[in-house]
Amino acid sequence: MQEKARKLVESRRVEFLSTGVYNVIGDHGTYTVSIDYKGNISCNCPGFLQKGKCSHVAAVELIKHNRR
Ligand SMILES: [Zn+2]
Repeated sequence: MQEKARKLVESRRVEFLSTGVYNVIGDHGTYTVSIDYKGNISCNCPGFLQKGKCSHVAAVELIKHNRR
């Protein structure tokens, strides 16, 4: 999962849309990752809906860490 997330970041497939909203171009489609005012992060892909985590969310978290 982390490795896949790193690849998404490195290939610049994470797009900043607006505050707390990112577009992630995954292997199977483009998904929206959003962060609410509490800091809860979510994605609209099937994997996130099932498991509560996915490589898209992990990629956005990587980018947020890199910005600091
Ligand atoms: Zn996802």
